[in-house]
Amino acid sequence: MARSTTHQICIGIIVLLLVAFFYVPNSLFAESPVPGEYLERAREVLGEVPLIDGHNDVPWQYRARVNYNLDKLDFASDLSTLDPPMHTDINRLRKGLVGAQFWSVYVPVSYEGALSIQATKEQIDLVYRLNERYPDTFKLALTADDIERIFADGKISSLIGMEGGHSIENSLAVLRATYELGARYMTITHWRSLEWADAATDAPIAGGLTPFGEEVVREMNRLGMMVDLSHVAPSTMHAAFDVTEAPVIFSHSSAYEVCRHVRNVPDDVLKRVRENRGIVMVCFLGSFVSEELRLWEEARSAERRRLMREHRDDRELVERDMRSWRERNPRPDATLEQVADHIDHIRDVIGVEYIGIGGDYDGTTSLPVGLGDVSTYPKLFVELLRRGYSDEDVARIAGLNMLRVMREVENVAARLQRTRRPSEATIEELDAEVRSGPDADNEGN
Ligand SMILES: [Zn+2]
Repeated sequence: MARSTTHQICIGIIVLLLVAFFYVPNSLFAESPVPGEYLERAREVLGEVPLIDGHNDVPWQYRARVNYNLDKLDFASDLSTLDPPMHTDINRLRKGLVGAQFWSVYVPVSYEGALSIQATKEQIDLVYRLNERYPDTFKLALTADDIERIFADGKISSLIGMEGGHSIENSLAVLRATYELGARYMTITHWRSLEWADAATDAPIAGGLTPFGEEVVREMNRLGMMVDLSHVAPSTMHAAFDVTEAPVIFSHSSAYEVCRHVRNVPDDVLKRVRENRGIVMVCFLGSFVSEELRLWEEARSAERRRLMREHRDDRELVERDMRSWRERNPRPDATLEQVADHIDHIRDVIGVEYIGIGGDYDGTTSLPVGLGDVSTYPKLFVELLRRGYSDEDVARIAGLNMLRVMREVENVAARLQRTRRPSEATIEELDAEVRSGPDADNEGN
């Protein structure tokens, strides 16, 4: 009796093991598909929703490498073979399933006066000529509707973003003219503070925004040009939130809590992004992504400054000692997974509705492992799916959030244009008090 019971229990266990062997692996796979299935899902989402990237510096590459001569640099060829390689070309944009690209029409802050305005126009002209030369690939987009129509047509939207208020040279007339030329966002500052707005990476001048800086934001709201707060100081971010009536963007910034670079967005500002219904387009630039890399770059700069003092500016000796410093201190890589950590953080703090993508390709040489050029975007979405993001979350981050922001900006502009005329203000008038410091009383009363 006892023996046959033991026998039955043994058979029972064997049957259970067999059932487990055939069924458990299947159910496990159902919950966590293999990467190939994630890739399939990512591709499906990006086939339905345009992937909109907030920042790419190809126009500057054309200026720096070939003085804007498209004959000398064919965007339809493989530009990864150049030295140094470019991150962007038509084939890789297609492979990356990009639906819309904001081209940065960046000019350096050292360009002043007429030169900065001319160079900005030359950058805009380059975007037009790319569209013209590759009409099967690109089409200029000015609105959210344009992006959707161009996407349905199987083409990539070309959009224009200005990087830095120095491009308008204290003139609301120039701001309006660049809107007419197609610019749909302006980053308030680049690396240096302006007379009317402070940058994150420079000493403050304006104390956030001056009255003229506030007027720039109001005029951008009226025009329907998005206010971009990447690059600006937190004081300027807060000042812009106080004034703006439309959602703002961060065209290429990540989360400060994850990597403490001043170019990233602190949590208290993230909360204002949610109140404002704006968007943070997560940037891939290595030292914004990886805290280890940021600290390493900081240590490298400190070591270089120390060696410059020690060797009394003898560059040869400094370079020799820097080489040995680098051997002792290998450079840590930023990674695709860390970019996903930034997205996780922003989602945890304010939700998935306020996240976009702003890679900064061709604006940096420091990119995360796994995100080396514009063909790699789908890998980032695979990682998000692997982390449990839904297809809908991925669609939002890829493009739906930005389309929503653009539509709200367009609606605010339409409303404001019914009652508000173009601003007649000048910096001289509005900032008279700010400008008249203790020793600026030579205008009499
Ligand atoms: Zn930038």
